Amino acid sequence: MKITMLGTGAALPDPDRGQSAILISTDSGRHYLLDCGEGATRQMVRANINPADVGVVVLTHLHHDHICDFPYFVISGWMLNRATAPVLLGPKGTKHFVRHLFEDGAYRTDFIARSAYALRKENLQAVRPDVREMQPGLVYEDDEVRITALHVDHLPHEVCECFGLRVEVEGKVIAFSGDTKPCAAMVELARDADLLIHECTFPQSFIDHRAKTGVGTYAHTSPLGLGKIASESGARSVVATHFGHFDSTSPVLKRAAGKHLPTELMGPHLLEEVVADIRKNYDGPLRLAHDLMRIDL
Ligand SMILES: [Zn+2]
Ligand SMILES: [Zn+2]
Repeated sequence: MKITMLGTGAALPDPDRGQSAILISTDSGRHYLLDCGEGATRQMVRANINPADVGVVVLTHLHHDHICDFPYFVISGWMLNRATAPVLLGPKGTKHFVRHLFEDGAYRTDFIARSAYALRKENLQAVRPDVREMQPGLVYEDDEVRITALHVDHLPHEVCECFGLRVEVEGKVIAFSGDTKPCAAMVELARDADLLIHECTFPQSFIDHRAKTGVGTYAHTSPLGLGKIASESGARSVVATHFGHFDSTSPVLKRAAGKHLPTELMGPHLLEEVVADIRKNYDGPLRLAHDLMRIDL
């Protein structure tokens, strides 16, 4: 199979990184999308994958950097002559999110206009996602893929349930953290996984700074924490992702992040600190994700 890291950034608009999105492509030609942050659809086209060929989408939680490309993904699939709607798995609230987007929601005018074209009227069912809200446990199964989801620890549960994932496909296991601080559920999901794709939003120095600014309400994993999860779970290889712009040189981002990040420290050199800190607890195969990075498994 092939895994394409479509987006490896976080919540701010980053010139070098799209938002969270990972595509798993099986040898038989099926595509499963984990998260659908900004840029996911366009990045698929850049990777020579037709978004209309993606059958299943999983949203780990409802922060915008994991979902905001979803309306574009669905409507462009409609225009790309998709015949059937994608299955959409997500936390409680996903039905509400989808209900307010399409025919009776934010894009209603586009639907009225575009449906006037006979071909679009014909595949209107393609823009009606089959939404399934997840409960912890087995959340999806077909003849090739099994997906298990467990609650991870990122947002207060009453605001949004956040899930980590374990995807079994072609006899291999891929675990994906979504967003979370280190938690036992993630160790369980990643147990002996062939590949652990884990968030690594900020280096330790940035986490310490954020704790003082009062914006630390969203819990994330430090490189030290990620190394611990990786070795405790027995994961055979690790890809760190969901980098929170600390490596950016963009003046716009530096100005925007000034209230909650130590912007004078920002820059790509921090990726060395990230690797060194992960290495304190984990010595197996390790890569830092970049957009359109391809992993063959
Ligand atoms: Zn995020
Ligand atoms: Zn988040």
